[in-house]
Amino acid sequence: MRGRPAAHPFANGRPVRQNAAVPQHRHPEGARSGTPETTELLKLRAQQPDLTSAIDLQLELLGLERRIRSRLTLPTLAFEPERLAALLEAGRPLLRFEDLSINWSDFRFVFRTVADLMRRYEALEEEEHSRTEALCREADRLEPIVVQWYATATEPASADPPADLAGLEPVVQLAMRPFLSRAAEALAAIDFSAWGRGCCPVCAGEPEFAVITPAAERLLLCSRCTSRWRFDPIACPYCGNEERDRITSFASRDGLYRIYACDECRRYLKAYDARHAARPVMLAVDTIATLPLDAAAMQRGYRA
Ligand SMILES: [Zn+2]
Ligand SMILES: [Zn+2]
Repeated sequence: MRGRPAAHPFANGRPVRQNAAVPQHRHPEGARSGTPETTELLKLRAQQPDLTSAIDLQLELLGLERRIRSRLTLPTLAFEPERLAALLEAGRPLLRFEDLSINWSDFRFVFRTVADLMRRYEALEEEEHSRTEALCREADRLEPIVVQWYATATEPASADPPADLAGLEPVVQLAMRPFLSRAAEALAAIDFSAWGRGCCPVCAGEPEFAVITPAAERLLLCSRCTSRWRFDPIACPYCGNEERDRITSFASRDGLYRIYACDECRRYLKAYDARHAARPVMLAVDTIATLPLDAAAMQRGYRA
């Protein structure tokens, strides 16, 4: 299949880093305000000190996202229900890049800050970090790369991944998240039931996570815009494989999480099992809490 694995800075194939080099005196930006996500992350940090570095980076990213989102206005989107229904029916994602009306100086600020944070927590190599700095210095280079990055999901047949972007996808993905998730909110009330694809109905991004609802349905969560949509409870969203005996599924020891690993395309998807849970799924928390499951899946030869 075409396209690259969902870029996630914490699931990059490297072992979960111990918190050796993280300055202990720092209090991550996001930790100050007690949103449900930060509260859960701090709880998780106390329970699993091995995840401290990943959790502190996540707290910083949440703080950044909150600051930038407060500055963003909801994009004005064309909401004609007939047009949206026709797009969903045809398997075409709803959000065009131009709908986002991005303020590029805001974006450049977020991109640079995400890259600096990832470097500080060693989720980005020095060489890659230098390339992000070069991109920020040349104002006219960053914009077309981001437009192209968006098109690799929405127009996979015609868009090639931008060469300048190789290795920097996680930075673009995290920097775009506040802009995309804000726009996705404007579309969240739409009924996606006509959508049968494994990618996101809003932006065509790949799923990064899933949740099993109390009704035993499976919702997928977008790696780009964080939208949710219902998908077959077993089939692989990456390659469409529906053969149950070609999908390996296993649960975490506490039963809260589950992995679906596809024996066709060798990719895996993590899920939160809300049937046995005290709180709803939280993408920012559950992707970190399941880092040990990533390691287990990768050991079995699967990839994110
Ligand atoms: Zn999306
Ligand atoms: Zn597959």
